[in-house]
Amino acid sequence: METPAAFEPRGRRHRHADRFAWRFVSIRHARALETFYAGFERLLVWLAPLAARVGWERLERPVAFLEAGVKGMLFDCRMCGQCVLSSTGMSCPMNCPKGLRNGPCGGVRADGNCEVYADMPCVWVKAYEGSLRMADGARIAEVQPPVDHRLKGRSSWLAVSREKSGLGSAPAAAAGKKGPTS
Ligand code: SF4
Repeated sequence: METPAAFEPRGRRHRHADRFAWRFVSIRHARALETFYAGFERLLVWLAPLAARVGWERLERPVAFLEAGVKGMLFDCRMCGQCVLSSTGMSCPMNCPKGLRNGPCGGVRADGNCEVYADMPCVWVKAYEGSLRMADGARIAEVQPPVDHRLKGRSSWLAVSREKSGLGSAPAAAAGKKGPTS
């Protein structure tokens, strides 16, 4: 079945199950990635003064390009611009064809696969597995706000840097100045 995913770029086709391998490796190593991301976040905050001097908007395109490459490989990231991996067991919820960010729909198959793509394990089943491996896995119970589509394509790394440092305006406000990005 070729049903477009909620966050699938237009014209992109559904991939076969053997292409999900890296996504699953990341989920299997959710604990190590959680530790890495905690350190990486501190680095991003530390670099915020430099980023503010260079200009957040000037950095947006190159950093988003780098982030899309790295996270695309590791998580099949869809660049929603508001990353929640640390709350979802390192399983990207934007790979859900329904774009659900607060748990699975009622259609998960008995084998744990997606009701839309029968060959793809449900991203929320994998999220639960990943969260069990994480020190702060209980964050999976946090209720996530609706996706802000103005942030699509923007860098979550820069958003974390500017938000946690307090040195930049909120990414949504920045995106709003330029109009919707999706
Ligand atoms: S939650 Fe958003 S930014 Fe994070 S991996 Fe998924 S699409 Fe990418």
